Amino acid sequence: MSGKQDLLRTLPAIDRVLREEPLRNLSQQLPQDTLSHAVQELIASLRQEILETGQIVPPERLLAKNIAAVAAQYCREFLQPSLRKVINATGTLLHTNLGRAPLSSQSLRAINNVAAGYSNLEFELDSGCRGERFSHVESLLTQLTGAEAALVVNNNSGAVLLALTALGKGREAIVSRGELVEIGGAFRIPEVMEAGGVILREVGSSNRTHLHDYQQAVNENTAILLKVHTSNYRIVGFTKEVPARELLPVAQENNLILMEDLGSGLLLDLSGYGLEREPTVPEVVKAGVDVITFSGDKLLGGPQAGIIVGRADLIKKIRKHPLARALRIDKLTLAALESTLRLYLQPEQALQELPVLKMFAADPEQQKQRCLHLFERLEAESLAAEIKLIEDVSRVGGGAMPLTELSDWAVEINPLQGRTADLAKQLRTFSPAVVARVQNDRLLVNLRAVFEDEEALLTQILITVLKAS
Ligand SMILES: *Cc1c(COP(=O)(O)O)cnc(C)c1O
Repeated sequence: MSGKQDLLRTLPAIDRVLREEPLRNLSQQLPQDTLSHAVQELIASLRQEILETGQIVPPERLLAKNIAAVAAQYCREFLQPSLRKVINATGTLLHTNLGRAPLSSQSLRAINNVAAGYSNLEFELDSGCRGERFSHVESLLTQLTGAEAALVVNNNSGAVLLALTALGKGREAIVSRGELVEIGGAFRIPEVMEAGGVILREVGSSNRTHLHDYQQAVNENTAILLKVHTSNYRIVGFTKEVPARELLPVAQENNLILMEDLGSGLLLDLSGYGLEREPTVPEVVKAGVDVITFSGDKLLGGPQAGIIVGRADLIKKIRKHPLARALRIDKLTLAALESTLRLYLQPEQALQELPVLKMFAADPEQQKQRCLHLFERLEAESLAAEIKLIEDVSRVGGGAMPLTELSDWAVEINPLQGRTADLAKQLRTFSPAVVARVQNDRLLVNLRAVFEDEEALLTQILITVLKAS
């Protein structure tokens, strides 16, 4: 007990620590309050540690100069931007945690063009009258999808919530039990419906839903037949789902709205690139679905956005709902989305210019050459690691096409000393950060989502980190 009290008494006062050199040096760059706060927190955590573990806390750690050094380290980290660039060596192209789709150079220019100054965001230059922000993308979207009208919001979760509540509040929407999707975090179809005040009428079973299940569930309070694309899982085996085109007559006979949440929303058929064949947005429009929602930053390859296309009368109703204002798209996103959509006017241009589409289309032989080059560069350094060129697979990610594996290559790194997890951490905390995959205690560096102009830097970082460890 007395040991603890002695240790606690040796803890220095905050002012004493602040006078130490490492913190004095930071006083030009950070407010005094920030420095004091860091010291205060650190002393509090040391006090806690002493009370919990007693004499095990080494007395050197309680010296003012050592506390100051640790606090200064925290403060220097605070000076770094928190949101920063990452080199994605995971082989997952639309990695939700790493920001999904990288933007095209056209989008970067478009953002630059409107970000620094003023723009005609909601202003008609011809008439000098107030305009609509959606107008910048609506005709592009109707042209590219064949729909009558379109609306864009902050993200697809918002698009689904908005469309459901604007069209079905207080009434029922019929959904197959096989399509009650949860998409990462808090987006679950039943909960989104509840939040939107729409009554969920589940039909069928997890693996099989028939047309007659929908027909039998229709009643005078039904407003919507909802199809949800099971983007991030597949039900395989003894299954049955009813495609939207078969639901169309049921919707028409009963005057119901047929809505489909597509999730990813392909504008082009990418099945030629090793991706699963999924209905494209134009095909779903053509099948007669009234309202379709999809993301801007999944397979479309643009910024985070939610896109709603469909029947003009319904889009108008959605646009007038107060939530539309709350979920409205911001001008930088709108600039990025417009430029992304413009590329699709010529499909070969979209394939050449949109980073994600280029990555899907990457030739496996070329990927092998890139990995071989990296392998040879690392081998030449005689590093303390076993290095191999291995076959690997890349994935779409972003909760899309969960079964799709794109055949690929990777460089496997096995450190001779130390743990693979520590090596992975050193790479993550490097600047710029490198995120690779750890699989069966081996570090895999997959180059599919690494840009060509990042390759030399990535090689250098790997060499530096492996030499230091
Ligand atoms: C991804 C996804 C969403 C959510 O879209 P965000 O743009 O991430 O908000 C909703 N529904 C489906 C089917 C999805 O795949």
